[in-house]
Amino acid sequence: MTEGFEDSSELARKAELAELLLHAARRLGETLEPERVYDTFHELLTGVVPHDGVVVSSFDDRDDSITCEYAWVEGNRLDPSSFPPITLNRQGGGMQSRVILSGEPLVVNDVEQVVRQPGGTFYDVDKEGEMRKLPDVKPPGTKAAMMVPVKEEGRVVGVVQLMSDRTQYTLAQLEVFAGLVGQMAAAVRTVRLQKERRRLEAAEAAARAIAAERETAVQVLEAVGDGIFLLGDDGTIRLWNRGAELITNVRASVVGGRPITSVFTTWETLSPQIPVAEAGIAPRSATLPMEVGGSDLWLSISGVQSAAGTVYAFRDLTSERRLEEEKSDFIATVSHELRTPMAAVYGAAQTLLQRGPDLGPDRSRELLEMIVTQASRLSQITEEVLLTGRLDRGEVRVLREPVDVADVTRAAVDAMREQLPEAAAIEVEIEPNVGRAAGDADRIQQVLVNLIDNAVKYGGGQVRVRVEPADGSVRVAVADSGPGIPLADHERIFEKFYRADPHLTTAPHGTGLGLYISRELVRRMSGRLELAPEGAGGATFLVDLPQA
Ligand code: ADP
Repeated sequence: MTEGFEDSSELARKAELAELLLHAARRLGETLEPERVYDTFHELLTGVVPHDGVVVSSFDDRDDSITCEYAWVEGNRLDPSSFPPITLNRQGGGMQSRVILSGEPLVVNDVEQVVRQPGGTFYDVDKEGEMRKLPDVKPPGTKAAMMVPVKEEGRVVGVVQLMSDRTQYTLAQLEVFAGLVGQMAAAVRTVRLQKERRRLEAAEAAARAIAAERETAVQVLEAVGDGIFLLGDDGTIRLWNRGAELITNVRASVVGGRPITSVFTTWETLSPQIPVAEAGIAPRSATLPMEVGGSDLWLSISGVQSAAGTVYAFRDLTSERRLEEEKSDFIATVSHELRTPMAAVYGAAQTLLQRGPDLGPDRSRELLEMIVTQASRLSQITEEVLLTGRLDRGEVRVLREPVDVADVTRAAVDAMREQLPEAAAIEVEIEPNVGRAAGDADRIQQVLVNLIDNAVKYGGGQVRVRVEPADGSVRVAVADSGPGIPLADHERIFEKFYRADPHLTTAPHGTGLGLYISRELVRRMSGRLELAPEGAGGATFLVDLPQA
């Protein structure tokens, strides 16, 4: 029955050990920091295996270094960093090295003997953390030691040493010690994994925050109305925002990575005039005419130096600039146009006043007629300017009623014939069944008078006016046999104050408002006024009015 007794005491011991380890696993599992795990491990050890020192070391097989992670000596917790890392002795000298190499636990109950053997480096540490290399100085106080490897997936990743100055260690104690080391190692691993996971989660959250911030920055960059682009030091475009696309009509996908000169062709000559500020300083901006795709844009532009290159911001001032130009055109044209007839009226009136009685009746009449003609020209200019202003402000009311276009055309031609020299021949051709248009008879006549006047003024020679039906509308074509209008001016002649070749001394007088007013009036009747594509010479203007 002795055997049975032994069995049952062995069973009881095993059960006790299992209970101890279970308790240890629970306690260790509650800890979140690796340092605290070592403390808990040591607390668990105290009371079950007597000892005077505990050292936990990690082993890194990449450089064979053995580093102290935790040290407790004679009631004092020591700073592990005060132990210099030692290198694994592959010859097997030194107890730690032997355990790491074999992966097996070690119990040494004759430490004094062992440290005298050559091949290992032995330190003795007192409770103040004072370290002495052994056995140089004096024999160590340690009598017995147990060393257990810490393993991870079969590889040795550390060693735990337990030292006693008094007792000898038994295999049963080794079993308890090894069990606790196993639990401690598992807890350290879990804590490290958790810590790593928390670190990864924090890194991921930080990355997400940065991405969100970037996303917001991109959205802001896309939302701003200003054009913004980043120019790399090599002169290529790195970023081209939506505002830049809209202003220049050049897509980011087209310019990305291409030289800036592919968009702004005159960049090389103009860029020295663009102020570029250091980062953090608000830059002034310069207003420059930048050529984009063959036309000039007036851009207010400035740059800021950044690590990635120069960031330029620009704003389109073309329409503001055009307004400025229009204003000065207006003043120049109006004063120029008013000056000639006014001088004529003034001169004629002056002559009549000073030399009235001496002038013959024919000369007097001539001067009076000049005053009348020039005064009427003056009032015509004033009318045109005023009408333009009213059109721009949307104050002109245009009727929409059935109009016999043939009648209106005849009336316009008759009115013109009265004013024209005999030589100016106007031919009228009206197709049958042209039908009636919806519009304002007076305004239509005003438009036709202006077109015929231009045809005579600029075209000269034969003028042909033709009324015909054209695809749901009534068309009046006014054609002359003059020099025609260069293609580049086809749209511009309809702009306010625009006059082709106004500086030619031979150019007849005019405000450049006639065609603008005509087109605006026709538009208000839902019609169209256009220049016919270049034909056999001369210019042909087409007025299309919707059928009534
Ligand atoms: P204005 O006659 O007062 O100059 P318009 O707006 O009527 O103003 O015409 C604008 C310009 O268009 C003219 O200055 C002239 O250069 C050009 N133009 C108009 N009609 C003709 C035409 N029939 N032939 C050639 N050029 C023309």
